[in-house]
Amino acid sequence: MTQKSKAMGPIPPAYAAEEGMLLIGGRGAAALADEAGDTPLFAYDAAMLDARVASLAAVLPDRCDIHYAMKANPFAPLLRHMAGLVDGFDIASVGELDRALAAGVDPAHISFAGPGKRDAELAVALEQGVTIHLESEGEARRLLALAGRTGRTPRVAVRVNPDFDLKGSGMRMGGGAKPFGVDADRAADLARAMIDAGADWRGWHIFAGSQSLDGAAIIAMQAQTVALAARLSDAVGAAPPLVNLGGGFGVPYFPGDTALDIAPIGTALGEAIGAAIAGEGAILADSRFALELGRWLVAEAGVYLTRVIDVKQSHGETFAVVDGGLHHQLAASGNFGTVVRRNYPVAIANRFGQPAADQPVSVVGCLCTPLDRLADQVLLPPVKEGDLVAIFMAGAYGASASPASFLGHEPAVQMLVTGDGDYILD
Ligand SMILES: *Cc1c(COP(=O)(O)O)cnc(C)c1O
Repeated sequence: MTQKSKAMGPIPPAYAAEEGMLLIGGRGAAALADEAGDTPLFAYDAAMLDARVASLAAVLPDRCDIHYAMKANPFAPLLRHMAGLVDGFDIASVGELDRALAAGVDPAHISFAGPGKRDAELAVALEQGVTIHLESEGEARRLLALAGRTGRTPRVAVRVNPDFDLKGSGMRMGGGAKPFGVDADRAADLARAMIDAGADWRGWHIFAGSQSLDGAAIIAMQAQTVALAARLSDAVGAAPPLVNLGGGFGVPYFPGDTALDIAPIGTALGEAIGAAIAGEGAILADSRFALELGRWLVAEAGVYLTRVIDVKQSHGETFAVVDGGLHHQLAASGNFGTVVRRNYPVAIANRFGQPAADQPVSVVGCLCTPLDRLADQVLLPPVKEGDLVAIFMAGAYGASASPASFLGHEPAVQMLVTGDGDYILD
C-alpha cells in the first residue's frame, strides 16, 4: 500500500554533507552530537551568521544600521558572536538586558521595547543608560517619575503603532488597535512632552510586522514607515537621531516558501530615504535608520538534532520516535503561531542527500501528546533506530521559545560551532 506523502519546507541550500553526513560549521552532525554528550541538541553555525549579516550590510544604505532582536535566540555564545557583528541589540526584558550586557554589548547600543515594563525594569534600564522605547503615556509617566527620583536623564524613543501593517506578514504588529506602541496620532505629543521634560529623545520605533516573504510588501512598508517618521518629526519640530524601521524579513519554513531577495529591498530603502529627504521628509536629513531583525539573521544557522529511539508501524503508517520534541522545538510541531500545521525542512543527518524510501514517515517527539509531531508523513531515506534527525530553521524561536519543562525531560544542549570547527557550549 502506498500512502500519500506531504511536502516539507526547503532545506537551506547552504547545508552540505560529507560521505552522507550533514555538516554544520564544517563538522559532521554525529561528531557534534558526540561532543555535546547527548542528544537532542541545537547546533548553530557561526560562519553562517557572519555571512548573513555581511550579505545584508552589503545591500543596505550606509545610513541604515542592523539591530539584532535577541528574543529570536538568546544563547550566550551566539549573543557574544552577534555582538561583534551588528550595530545594536533590541531587548524586551531586563533578563534580556542582563544577557546582552554579559555578551559585551555597549548599553548605548541597546534599545528596550515591549509592553508591560515594570518600574523595577525601567529603573535598571535608566541606570544602565539604554534607550527605552515607550509603549504608552502611562509608561512614560512612570519613567519620568523614576528619573526625577534618581536625577538621571532617560534616553527614550517613542514606539509608534502605525496606521498600516506589513501585508502578508506572519504576525501582525501594527494597524488598528494594538497593545504595542502609541497610536500614530498621539505619538508626536508624547515625544514633545518627553523632550520638554528633559529626556534625551532618540527618535522613533515603528514596527509593522514580522515573517514576510513578500519583498514588495516590505518595500512598501518601509516607504510608509519613512514617510510616517518624517511626518511625526515635523509635528514634534525636532529631528530624530534614529528611526528604527522595524524589520519583518521572513525566512522560508514551509513548502512553497522562497527566500527573500534582499538586494532590491536595500536599494528601495535607500531610494525611499533619499526621496523623503529631498521632499517632504527634509527633517530626516541627518537621521540614522535601523532595521531590527531576529529570525532572518539567525534561523537558518541553527539545526536541531534529535536521535531516533524507535521506529514503529500503526495502521500502515511508519513513525520514527525521537528523543526530542516540541518541548525544545515547538515551532516545528506547528504550535507556535501557525494556523495550519505544515512541515519544516527535515532530513536524516547521517543519510543526508540520499534517496528517499517509497513510504513516508512521521517524525514524532517523545512527549505523550498528539501535538508532538515534528514532521508529518514526509519522504526521507529509510529510517533506523539510532539515526539522527535534523530539523532545519532551528536557529530562531527554538530552545528559548519552547515549553522546556513540559513533561519533565532534560533541556536540549546548545552549541555554537565556530569557524575553525571548534564549538562553544555556554
Ligand atoms: C519579535 C520582534 C522582532 C523580531 O522579529 P523577527 O520576526 O524574528 O525578525 C523585532 N522587533 C520587535 C519589536 C519584535 O517584537
